Amino acid sequence: MIRLTRPPLPGELADNLQRATDGLKSLSRKEQGARARTLWRSRSTLRQAVGARLREFAPGRERCMYCGDNQGTDIDHFSPVALTPLLTFAWENHLLACSVCNSHHKRDQFPRDDRGRPLLLDPTRDDPFEHLALSLTLGRYLPLTERGEVTERVCGLNRDILTRGRQNARTTLGFLIGSWQSARSVADTSTMEQVVRTVHEQPFADVVQAMLRYSTRPGAAEVFADLPPGVLRVLLDEEFRARLALAR
Ligand SMILES: [Zn+2]
Repeated sequence: MIRLTRPPLPGELADNLQRATDGLKSLSRKEQGARARTLWRSRSTLRQAVGARLREFAPGRERCMYCGDNQGTDIDHFSPVALTPLLTFAWENHLLACSVCNSHHKRDQFPRDDRGRPLLLDPTRDDPFEHLALSLTLGRYLPLTERGEVTERVCGLNRDILTRGRQNARTTLGFLIGSWQSARSVADTSTMEQVVRTVHEQPFADVVQAMLRYSTRPGAAEVFADLPPGVLRVLLDEEFRARLALAR
């Protein structure tokens, strides 16, 4: 899970969502829940428009905003419809998720703390790295805070298939990043561009983010010791970092 920047919606789509919300406000709390669900299912054009906007700022190739591995096929209501029907059509409550994260792990879970604040991390509001450390060698998230612990558990972020995928991503990225350095040494700009695009589009954007962040910390040499030589140097390279930041 990585920090994402949610763009504003175009006026017409925002107005359509607002109108749908307004239509729910006059109903009783009980009616709102049932009506919100039916209305959400019936408004396929509106759903498609929201999905298209979510895909624009999803990690890599339209990956799930929770696991970063699978294609984001579902629109997840961060605060579930069952709990907050009036947020059914709220843009700030929509995230792109895969069906595994959405329907098998998170579902209608939405734990809160004693003061009613959400414990789950919202990648469009929170920086997940402040709450979850990613062990690059284990491919596992290690909670740093209660919110990190709850998010890892509820979203199943340490399921085996994800930890293996992150370990593989780290190895693949090591080779890719090494090849960027080789291409630069012979001014092969086309390969350099291809490498940056591949790094950007591979699943597990969290592994790339963690590698970039950990490269600047004390002890970085040990963290990257078993990867091809020169990986750390490229991770710290201003040009590489700038090109990757622009790869959207
Ligand atoms: Zn997922």
